[in-house]
Amino acid sequence: MRALEEKAAAAYTEKFGDPPDTVASAPGRINLIGEHTDYNGGFVLPCAIDRRVAVAVGRSGNELYSADFGETRSLTEKDSSWADYPRAVVWAMGEAGHRTEPFRAAFAGNVPLGSGLSSSAAIEAATALALDSLFGLGLKRKELAVICQKAENGFVGVNSGIMDQYASLLCEAGAALLVDCRSLEAEPVPLDLESAGLTLLVCDTRVERGLADTGYNQRREECERAAKTLGVGELRDARDEDLDRLSGVEEKRARHVVSENVRVLDAVDALREEDFERFGRLMYASHASLRDGYEVSIPELDTFVALAEEAGAPGARLTGAGFGGCAIALFRTGETGALCRKIETVFADRGFNKPDFYEFVPVAGAEVAR
Ligand code: ADP
Ligand code: MG
Repeated sequence: MRALEEKAAAAYTEKFGDPPDTVASAPGRINLIGEHTDYNGGFVLPCAIDRRVAVAVGRSGNELYSADFGETRSLTEKDSSWADYPRAVVWAMGEAGHRTEPFRAAFAGNVPLGSGLSSSAAIEAATALALDSLFGLGLKRKELAVICQKAENGFVGVNSGIMDQYASLLCEAGAALLVDCRSLEAEPVPLDLESAGLTLLVCDTRVERGLADTGYNQRREECERAAKTLGVGELRDARDEDLDRLSGVEEKRARHVVSENVRVLDAVDALREEDFERFGRLMYASHASLRDGYEVSIPELDTFVALAEEAGAPGARLTGAGFGGCAIALFRTGETGALCRKIETVFADRGFNKPDFYEFVPVAGAEVAR
């Protein structure tokens, strides 16, 4: 078992007196390319990262314990705390017709909370997989992901797409996951960064995505309007030559979505050819499109991308919805230290928050550890 899984198991035993029956864990994710394409029926390309949430579960009782928050809560009452995530999964399983019995659970995680690395999908996916195993439900990974998305949408009340839960449950080690957000088909795409001598550097700007909800909802409406003007169900179906029929904000948003979908598929080709230079150029192009066309970037994210480019990064871009949150760069393994120090200095000079940095290689999705 991983140290984190041991920690969840030990917390369970200490809290509830008996060892757990099952231990599972699930990772957070980053999106490599394909931003604001999900709700337009398009493509995304996330990969799972080596930060996880682990859960130890056992039959009987109805308590949830968080080793990170040092809190015990009941399984049943919704209270807008962390415990709503596992409760949501139980609810969504019930909605899908899968009955669970009373259980206890202890959680331990190390996905940064609320940074855009999807700790919420990690706790949902870990819970869902653990319950599937504990109660012998025999659900497929895709079914579990849909249950987790329903949990987040319908119980927690966050209107997210399927990407996070798919990444957390379906990713393979050393691979990204191409997801068609309309058909929900997904396939692994090799992402052997280690043999290319590359790493994924994540910069959390520590800028709260304060306006994110408003901005996000606005963008969704603009896309819907653009699709309506073009007479297509979703912007996924718009073609480049159609876009001249749009104007103003609708045209800007639609151009991003249409070009971003093309970039995701190009990026998949580039990865299959192990052409990281081409892959990286697509990352830069994605960032420019999000900055100028979709208008969801902020100075901190632009500064990170510009400094990464100056330092010779093959690619960099904001990741997630924008308005704050994280950016990523492909960078040479072992050489990120100088870049991070430079970024810290420039951020300080410009009066930005002190950023956090993480380095990742792509790992496998959720696993039952015991
Ligand atoms: P993100 O998914 O970007 O990290 P969210 O706001 O969607 O941010 O989800 C974060 C929430 O998920 C936390 O506030 C907490 O309620 C829950 N959560 C994540 N990790 C854990 C954990 N290790 N233990 C308990 N709750 C967690
Ligand atoms: Mg989340």
